[in-house]
Order: sequence, then structure tokens, then C-alpha cells
Amino acid sequence: MSTTADVVIVGGGIMGVSTAYHLAKRGCRNVVVLESGEMFGLGSTGLNAGGVRYQFSTAVNIELSKLSIGMMERFADETGQEVALRRCGYLFLLDTNDDMRRFEGNVALQNQHGVPSRVLSPDATHELVPEVDLTGIIGATWCPRDGLVDPHGLLQGYISCARHLGVRLETRSPATGIEITGGRVHRVVTPSDEFETHAVVIAAGPWSAQVGALAGADVPIQPIRRQIAVTNPIPHLRSDFPFVIDFTRALYFHREGAGILTGMSNRAEAPGFDTTVDESWRLTHLENAVARLPMLEEAELLAEWAGLYEVTPDDQPILGRLPHADGLFICAGFSGHGLMHGPGAGLLMAEEILDGSAHTIDIEPFRWSRFANGAGAGEFNVV
Ligand SMILES: Cc1cc2nc3c(=O)[nH]c(=O)nc-3n(C[C@H](O)[C@H](O)[C@H](O)COP(=O)(O)OP(=O)(O)OC[C@H]3O[C@@H](n4cnc5c(N)ncnc54)[C@H](O)[C@@H]3O)c2cc1C
Repeated sequence: MSTTADVVIVGGGIMGVSTAYHLAKRGCRNVVVLESGEMFGLGSTGLNAGGVRYQFSTAVNIELSKLSIGMMERFADETGQEVALRRCGYLFLLDTNDDMRRFEGNVALQNQHGVPSRVLSPDATHELVPEVDLTGIIGATWCPRDGLVDPHGLLQGYISCARHLGVRLETRSPATGIEITGGRVHRVVTPSDEFETHAVVIAAGPWSAQVGALAGADVPIQPIRRQIAVTNPIPHLRSDFPFVIDFTRALYFHREGAGILTGMSNRAEAPGFDTTVDESWRLTHLENAVARLPMLEEAELLAEWAGLYEVTPDDQPILGRLPHADGLFICAGFSGHGLMHGPGAGLLMAEEILDGSAHTIDIEPFRWSRFANGAGAGEFNVV
């Protein structure tokens, strides 16, 4: 069946549904979201750790966190959906002089942007997290305003409000073709439908390179497996236990329910779409996790899973219009920290599409053209 839409969004994760909601809120309601899965949020959005932080190394990411976390604070009032924003704080543990210097610089930058992060000595770190074994740690950075949010609440809030505003959201609808005529996007094809349109947004997370290829666009985003384990309740685990990251080991843990959620990124993981749990990495992960947080020794595992980071060469997202065809846009490649930036990214995409250019934040460092012009240093605080 052929239908006309003002905007077709490919991908029903946080980026797709946030963009749809912000378009509809601005009055652009003839919008279609195509999701290939049986449900929304089965991609990275449903598989992440729920972390929310201001502690980034680039001004643009700090500003995007300020914008997005501010939107989360107002989310329940705006959408009627609770998202359980909890300010437990993020603690980055550091064990090299180089990282110490980098993170001191990052804190100075964050402070310039009004973020109350600070550098901690090992003693001050021990006072904050006496449960953590700090062997080898020479300092830390801490921001008490960082924390956690409920990913499903964010996703559901945007889906139900977008639907209410008239957006058509389709599951089991993979985009299989994006047709370009005379240099403009013209049609999106699924196995059962065709949508005539002048605007297409690639919001397919780790699958964005494949979707870009449908339109002849080279999108440098790679899927990289990342896995998580969650324990059963741990007696006496305090309710304000923070989000702790051992930066050198890319190891992290935070309170999840009455237990602990922990992850550790395998920096040697090859790109690919396999999301089975890697058993040998699991052992490495749990060994390192118990060494840092000895209370885990007695804990039983409740659940574990693997998902995909959507990684760009500089660990920064790709946002805005693409030069390959008029009317072709992208909102993807958040490199493992996209859930927290979903609200702001959707608002910026709506501005880019409706106003010609995003303006609440200058997204120049996120534009695809940076790769052609030689990308800058990118984001350093990646876990
Ligand atoms: C283990 C793990 C931990 C993480 N922890 C955090 C964290 O603590 N904080 C944080 O902010 N971020 C975290 N992230 C990253 C975060 O989850 C992602 O950055 C974010 O969810 C990306 O959202 P998205 O909408 O771009 O992608 P996705 O949620 O993957 O959505 C893309 C959607 O596109 C669909 N799709 C693909 N191809 C097609 C097609 N051809 N047609 C139609 N639909 C298609 C997919 O089915 C998918 O649903 C983590 C990720 C992982 C894997």
C-alpha cells in the first residue's frame, strides 16, 4: 500500500521515537516510525545500563547532557510517564597519571559548563565508597548530579505521546529500500508498504550503516558487543550506592533493584551483530568485578545479557542532514552513551528538519562532514 508521509523515521529505539515525538509536538504529525522488530526497544535501548551523566570530555556532550537530563526532570509532567531519574552520582576511578591529568581537565571543562563535578583524592574516594577495593587507584572524579534513569519509561513515554499526537508507529516493518530521485529522497519501502516522503531519518542504532547503504550513504557506525550481569539482592547494600567506573578496565557497577548491575567492555571485541553472552569474557568480567567490589563474591547472578554499542570512529554521534541526498537525515552512533542523550537528540533533530538547522545546541561537531574534514579528538570518557 502506498501512503504519503512528511517524515519517515527508520528505527524505533530511543532516537527514533524521541525524534517522532518532538516533530509531532512542533505540529509535524504526518510522521511514520518503522521498526523492524516485533516490539519497540528491542535494540540497544532495551539492553542498556540506564546511566545518566554530565561527566564528558567534550563541551558538546556536556551541553547535550544538560539539555537531555533537564528534559528527564520534566518528563513525567510533560508525558505522564515516570522515568525514575535517580541522582546516585558517577565515580570514575583512575589509576594512571595520564588519565588523572585528562580527567582533571575534563572536570575543569565540566565546571565551566556549570556541572558540579570534582576531583577526589584516594582518601576522599574511600570515604565515599568504603565497599570498593581501591588498590592501585590514585584519584577519582565525582559528580553527585549524575545517576540513573529507567530506559523503558523514556521509550514508552515518547511512544504513547507521539501516538496520541497522530504519529504512526509500525513494528515488524523493516525498511528494505530508500529510493532517491533527482538527488532527493522520494520513497521508503518495506515488505508490505511504500511511503512517499521528502524526509527520511536514519535512527537504526547499530544497524545504521546498513540502512544508510539503502540510500547510498556511507555511515561509519560499527556494532560492538557489550555485556551486563545483574545479581540477586545483596543484603545491606545501601540505597545510595553510586555508579562506579574503573576507567582503565572499562568496568562498572551500580545498584539495580536490591542487587548490583555490572558490565565490563572488552576493548578488543571485533565488530559484529552477535549478541550471545561471551562466556570467556564473562569470567574475566566477574573476576575483575569481584576484585573491585568484594561483596560480589557471595552474590548470585539473576540475569545477564549482551547488546550492541553503535560506535563511530571518534565516539561521537552522527546528527543532522546527510550530504548524499536532499531530505536524508541521521540520528545515530552514540557510541554507548545514547540513552541519556535521546531526549535532547530528538529535539535537535526536529529543529534540523523543521527549521533547516538545529539551534538549541550547535551540532557542528556531530555532523557527518567532520569525517570528510578530518574528525577532531572526539569523546574520551567512553566506557
Ligand atoms: C550493554 C549496554 C550498556 C549501555 N549503557 C548505557 C548507559 O548506561 N547509558 C546510556 O546513555 N547509554 C547506554 N548504552 C547505549 C544506548 O543503549 C544506545 O546508545 C541507545 O539505546 C541507542 O539508541 P538508538 O535508538 O540509536 O538505537 P536502538 O535502540 O538500537 O534502536 C534502533 C532500532 O532500529 C531498528 N532497525 C534496525 N534496522 C532497521 C530497519 N532496516 N528498518 C526498521 N528498523 C530497523 C532496530 O530493530 C532497533 O530497534 C548502552 C548500550 C549497551 C549495549
